[in-house]
Amino acid sequence: MTDRTLPYNIEAVRADFPILQQEHHAGVPLIYLDNAASSQKPRQVIDAIDDYYRRYNANVHRGIHKLSEAATAAYEEARIKVKKFINAANKREVIYVRGTTEGINLVAQTWGRANLKSGDTVVLTQMEHHSNIVPWQMLAAEKGFTIRYVPVLPDGTLDMDVYDALLRDEPVKLVSVMYVSNVLGTVNPIAHMAKLAHDVGALMLVDGAQAVPHLPVDVQALDADFFTFSGHKMIGPTGSGILTLDGSTWNELPYKFEAGTPSIAEGIGLGAAVDYLTSIGMDKIRMHEEAITAYALDRLSEVPGLTLYGPDADQKGAVAAFSLKGIHAHDIAQLLDAEGIAVRAGHHCAMPLHDCLNIPATARASFYLYNTFAEVDALIDALYKAKKKFSV
Ligand code: PMP
Repeated sequence: MTDRTLPYNIEAVRADFPILQQEHHAGVPLIYLDNAASSQKPRQVIDAIDDYYRRYNANVHRGIHKLSEAATAAYEEARIKVKKFINAANKREVIYVRGTTEGINLVAQTWGRANLKSGDTVVLTQMEHHSNIVPWQMLAAEKGFTIRYVPVLPDGTLDMDVYDALLRDEPVKLVSVMYVSNVLGTVNPIAHMAKLAHDVGALMLVDGAQAVPHLPVDVQALDADFFTFSGHKMIGPTGSGILTLDGSTWNELPYKFEAGTPSIAEGIGLGAAVDYLTSIGMDKIRMHEEAITAYALDRLSEVPGLTLYGPDADQKGAVAAFSLKGIHAHDIAQLLDAEGIAVRAGHHCAMPLHDCLNIPATARASFYLYNTFAEVDALIDALYKAKKKFSV
């Protein structure tokens, strides 16, 4: 590895994440490369949650006592932080949910249930996460509408000719698509796809789970009608997430979709996560991730028998999915774990994609703002060790 100019002080960032200081096994440091599944949390987020429970725990929007007012203020301030972070037009369009899956289900069970009927078409893609397939399949079984899938080309991008043809030839009411693939890393052309959908009168939902943690996102520029993401993948707490709506079509936002006592600590924690990411700068985080992903792809492609999936680093998120001839992905993950390296193995809740790649499973290393080039080197060394053990 050569010396590099880094866009921010990664050692200082790492020092903020308590879990990265611990050993994975005795004498073996943790190398966390499973960020697409969930990210680690800095002390600033942990402290914000701790502070809420210790100093001003109370229900929001109800009480007129001091604690309730403080909790409401912090919870609503976090909503404004999120609004700014993704450049939503209005804080009323920013609805707290518990994560991407809940966000998609909320759209399916409200707008979808009221508007989709037999004879309509919903367009998904072959690379979708199950979270963006199952809610539509369940509703289609009940309502009788048709689901069509945009295929994935061999280079890991969507077949835009088929997308165009579907919009032209079918009565498409909704396009629901991921911004960034959690397996291939493909960054889909959302603004373009939304415009084409709108041209035929269809609405657009975007699964931003793998985008908001990693790229500067401007929901107004993308112009989707629904946009959802999870807090836990962007250094925030589990049980936090956001659905943004194009408010023009809805009344009484956001509270009409936030019944009951919400996840107050989680919302406040998400606000702290947004502060942390903003203080570094999403453009700098993206710069680092692009560099580390390019380095990882280069080094992985040196390993004999290794196949990489998805586009090149400049067109993809911080994800490297691969298979290694002669070793099952689960065995790779287990051998890497023994070396202190956490990766994911399986179909990553994207079975249609693995069917289309014609493989049962991949191993996936996914990077974030705290990962280092030295950690990529350790991954490569561990893969050579695994190959030796399996004599492949
Ligand atoms: N969509 C994508 C692209 C994802 O990567 C994930 C998480 N693996 C989800 C949806 C589901 O997110 P959550 O479990 O936070 O609801």
